[in-house]
Amino acid sequence: MRTVIILGSGPAGLTAALYSARAELEPLVIEGTEAGGQLMITTEVENYPGFPEGVLGPELMELFKQQANRFGAEHVMGDATAVDLSRPPFTVTVGSDTHECRTLIIATGARARLLGLDSELKLMGHGVSACATCDGFFFKDKKVMVVGGGDSAMEESLFLTRYASSVTVIHRRDELRASKIMQQRAFKNEKIDFLWNSVVVDILDVNQGRVTAVKVRNVKTDEITEIPCDGVFMAIGHEPNTSLFAGQLEMDENGYIVTRNGTHTSVPGVFACGDVQDTRYKQAVTAAASGCMAALDVQRYLAEQEG
Ligand code: NAP
Repeated sequence: MRTVIILGSGPAGLTAALYSARAELEPLVIEGTEAGGQLMITTEVENYPGFPEGVLGPELMELFKQQANRFGAEHVMGDATAVDLSRPPFTVTVGSDTHECRTLIIATGARARLLGLDSELKLMGHGVSACATCDGFFFKDKKVMVVGGGDSAMEESLFLTRYASSVTVIHRRDELRASKIMQQRAFKNEKIDFLWNSVVVDILDVNQGRVTAVKVRNVKTDEITEIPCDGVFMAIGHEPNTSLFAGQLEMDENGYIVTRNGTHTSVPGVFACGDVQDTRYKQAVTAAASGCMAALDVQRYLAEQEG
C-alpha cells in the first residue's frame, strides 16, 4: 500500500511528486497516456519563471520529472482506468494492476476542446494554439483568427490585440455567448472583427508546417472561403479530465473538481490540484503551485490521522 498516489504528470502532478518525495512519502505517479500534460503540445514557454531565455514545453516537463525522480518518485505509464474512493485505502486501477493508497492527489488536468480537424492537430504549436496567454507573443504584427463565441474567445481576442495586427473572431452563430461586458469590449476594439455563422473546415498549410490560411464554411449559405492568416486560436472551451471520478467527488456544473480549504476535495484524503480544479488561471506556474499545496495538504492530513 502506498502512502500517496498521484494521478497525472503535468506541472501540478510532478510538483506534488517532488514535494511528497522530498517528504519521504515515496509517491507513485500514474503518468497517463499523455504524460507531461498540455505543455507537451506547446513549443516555446516564455512565462515560466526561472527560464529567462524561455524553454520548450516538453523540455520543461522532462526537467520537472528529473527533479521529482531525484528524490525517489516512481512512475507508472498509462491511464488509470478506474478508481474507488468510497473508503480508504483508495484503489487505482491501471490496466490489469490495482494500486492501493492512503491518500490520492488528482492532477489529471484539462484539455482544450478542439474542432477535430486533422490539420488542427498537425499544426498545433506551429500556428495553431489553444492558449493566447502562452502563444500570443509569437504573433506580433500578424493576422490571427480566434474560433469561438464565449468569454474565453473574447478574452483571448482582446489579449491578442496587444500583438496581432488584426484579430478575426469566427463564430458558428450570429450571436455571441460571451457576457455583455466582454462583448462590448471586443466590439469596441478596432483590431477585432467578426465572421458570423461560420465554421472552420480546414487549416492550411500542413505541407509547409505553418499556418497560411483557414477554410471557412458559411453555415447559412454553405459557401466556402479561404482566408489568409498566420495563426488560429481555438477558444471553444476546456474539458476537465474527470470522467473517472463521476459520482465519487463533488464537481461543479462543468465537471471541474470542487476544492476547498486549499486542495481538499469532498472526500477526506483525496486532494486535487492544477487545471482539473482550476477554472480561472490555468497556467503552468499556478498548476505547479497548487501541486505543492496538495503535497503539503497530504502531509498535514497524514499527521492529523496519526496524531
Ligand atoms: P463556453 O462559454 O462554453 O463557450 C464556448 C464557445 O465555443 C461558444 O460560443 C460555442 O458556440 C463555441 N463552440 C463550442 N464548440 C464548438 C465547435 N465544435 N465549433 C465551433 N464553435 C464551438 O466556453 P468558454 O468561453 O471557454 O468559457 C467557459 C466558462 O468560463 C464560462 O462560464 C465563461 O463565462 C467563463 N469565463 C469567464 C471569463 C471572464 O469572465 N473573464 C473568461 C473566460 C471564461 P455556441 O455559443 O454556439 O455554443
